[in-house]
Amino acid sequence: MSSPATLDAILSLSKRKGFVYQSSEIYGGLNGCWDFGPLGVELLRNIKDSWWKAMTYRSDIVGIDSSILMHPRVWEASGHVGQFSDPMIDNKTSKSRHRADNLIEDFITRLRNKGKSEQADGVEHALASANSNEDLHAIIISNCIPDPISGTTDWTEVRNFNLMFETHVGPVADAANVVYLRPETAQGIFVNFKNVMESARMKPPFGIAQIGKSFRNEINTKNFLFRTREFEQMEMQFFVKPGTENEWFEYWRTARWNWFTESLGIDAAKLHRKPHEKLAHYAAAAEDIEYHFPFGWGEIEGIHSRTDFDLGRHQEFSGKKLEYVDTASKDRFTPYVIETAVGATRTFMAVLCDAYREEILPTDDGGSETRSLLKLKPSIAPITAAVLPLVNKDGMPEAAHSIVSNLERWFRVDYDTSGAIGRRYRRQDEVGTPFCITVDGQTISDSTVTLRERDTMQQDRIHVDALAGEIQHRMLQ
Ligand code: ATP
Repeated sequence: MSSPATLDAILSLSKRKGFVYQSSEIYGGLNGCWDFGPLGVELLRNIKDSWWKAMTYRSDIVGIDSSILMHPRVWEASGHVGQFSDPMIDNKTSKSRHRADNLIEDFITRLRNKGKSEQADGVEHALASANSNEDLHAIIISNCIPDPISGTTDWTEVRNFNLMFETHVGPVADAANVVYLRPETAQGIFVNFKNVMESARMKPPFGIAQIGKSFRNEINTKNFLFRTREFEQMEMQFFVKPGTENEWFEYWRTARWNWFTESLGIDAAKLHRKPHEKLAHYAAAAEDIEYHFPFGWGEIEGIHSRTDFDLGRHQEFSGKKLEYVDTASKDRFTPYVIETAVGATRTFMAVLCDAYREEILPTDDGGSETRSLLKLKPSIAPITAAVLPLVNKDGMPEAAHSIVSNLERWFRVDYDTSGAIGRRYRRQDEVGTPFCITVDGQTISDSTVTLRERDTMQQDRIHVDALAGEIQHRMLQ
């Protein structure tokens, strides 16, 4: 039996076990920023490695790592200076600030929870057809949507708030040396399109992949890692010949869905596809992959067919040609782009929520006990195996240390001697360690150990020389 994760359970586990801590916690924390602890950094790294392998261990995609600070014209060309803003509304009584569309969405959720589905449908329809800040304001006022803090409907107008963090290069802070912390990694790829195509001798269809930090001054941060001001993205731009974009869009929709289910082991029933109803004027198609978080459905990845908009804008703003020219046929074109944009830190949260289980197990005395576990796919678990000497004497610690140093050549391994063996198994289950190796009296005489699997709790007796191969074999299953 298992119970679904709640946000509180995930937060508490994260802090207690060293997955994620609040940033600058001893100073009261900094809103929208989080630190990854010893186990969290391993899990995040494994997710990023899995993406990197899926995307770049193939001949038609190469990786880059571009700088966070870029020429300010990049963000004019991309449209971020003019348009990367969210609609913001303030409550005059509480002085609290909200993203107007999120305020309406939360109101719709509350209506549904109260069983007022007809009203909820009406507000949802109005939100879907809202085209301006005035439309959003009208929905808030006409539905008397209250401020969650003061309960009043004392609202300002809806205004645009640009999400880019601004800073300055050099010692003098003036308008001439403004730079931005990048709000997405994609532009580093577009501006390097020509460099990569020429230096890596790539021809469309080909892709460029990048993993890196992005920053958005979100109006409201909430739901743990879901919406933060500093986060990590994994983006890939796939450059194709115009006319072939639809088939590549289909290809990447499937490939990206399969990465979540096959490489990360996320339950397909907790994922769904959400095609965009309102397309940007340059976009040919767009779809989100959403995960069912404890607070509801939320986007984890966007797949976008973006025509030649981005390269076209950078050609216009930089004055440099960003075309592919086929030397043999003299065929020349500005490639169309299929983009896959996924949040590494948001995916981390989806993985944690998806793996979290509380099982009720019968005990020998006829009662029951609760087992908490993270059912992580073994290939992304922070610790692959824990080596546990049954007692701290009789040659068992020495035998266990020798197993640890042998396995550490391939996997991240933990060594734990403290407490009863059952408690040590539970500790490893709770952080998702897929394999526990127990060294006992028999190990000393015949060099065998027990190998216990986290999910089934089944134990097999195995020779120490066969351990690494057996673990590797089971990780591939
Ligand atoms: P949202 O609508 O949730 O703000 P978005 O559509 O602006 O997201 P994109 O610009 O397409 O998101 O970014 C791609 C991915 O980057 C998202 O699917 C998400 O996983 C991640 N991401 C975006 N903003 C944040 C954030 N503030 N915190 C954490 N991850 C984010």
